[in-house]
Amino acid sequence: DLQAVSLKAYAKINLALDVLRRREDGYHEIRSVVQTISLADDLRLILKDSPEIQLVCTGDVPRDERNLAYRAARLLQEETQIPKGVRIELEKTIPVGAGLGGGSADAAAVVKGLNDLWELGLSEREMLRICARLGSDVPFCLLGGTALMQGRGEVVEPLPRLGELWLVLVRPRVQVSTAQVYRAWSQFPPGQPMVDRMLEAIRLRTPMAIAQSLGNMLEPVASCLFPEVAQVKWFLGNHTLGAVMSGSGPTVFGIVESEEEARDLEERIKSHPWDVFVVRTV
Ligand code: ATP
Repeated sequence: DLQAVSLKAYAKINLALDVLRRREDGYHEIRSVVQTISLADDLRLILKDSPEIQLVCTGDVPRDERNLAYRAARLLQEETQIPKGVRIELEKTIPVGAGLGGGSADAAAVVKGLNDLWELGLSEREMLRICARLGSDVPFCLLGGTALMQGRGEVVEPLPRLGELWLVLVRPRVQVSTAQVYRAWSQFPPGQPMVDRMLEAIRLRTPMAIAQSLGNMLEPVASCLFPEVAQVKWFLGNHTLGAVMSGSGPTVFGIVESEEEARDLEERIKSHPWDVFVVRTV
């Protein structure tokens, strides 16, 4: 019998993000091409025979029932009525509130890991339904790879996998609230939709085509609220094949030709007050 499971929770980037409209329910209708990257949190799930859920974690995140990893375990327990518990050990590496979907990745990993540890036998479909209740980005995180997201993000359609791409991620040290960026969005003129172009570029499978089709309709909004975003974008735009902000920011990533090029760029960025990560697509 399984006593413990170790797994990684991978971050995502938005290669293209179109915001279509604000809905009656307050959410925004989006279309986005999303991609899993090698930056990841580490999770260890240890079986408990009592129905207790325990969480220990590193990093600047809530350690109680507000943590998405904890909420995922609680929801799964409620849905399945399983009389078992878990001790969740979470080591954060994905920066928090960075537009990289770290909380969603943790939640999806807990659902997947507990399905094994608690021997629930849930199908992928059933897990996806539970993930959708935890957050708009969580169903994608369960599937991983490359996908088209629609609706408020919960409608996920897998796409052919990209070849390996090397990326440099740069996060200026500003605190960005997703809600604040979406709220400001309606006050900006409509941006250029890029998702259809990105879908075409993915079929071509060249880094250059992908680099030339990057786009995020929230980028002008976040750049206006946080000038550091514009600064990072300008810098990366000048040193990579193409660069764009991920999600609601503030992280901006650029596509480069090789790991070596990524490492060189990383060195040059170290003199700026920014966090930098060299990653590849997975
Ligand atoms: P989003 O666009 O969903 O806000 P993000 O990548 O910008 O995603 P996250 O790192 O997922 O940001 O964190 C968003 C919020 O979720 C933060 O306020 C954080 O305190 C909270 N949170 C709860 N649990 C977690 C977790 N396990 N990891 C990261 N953040 C978490």
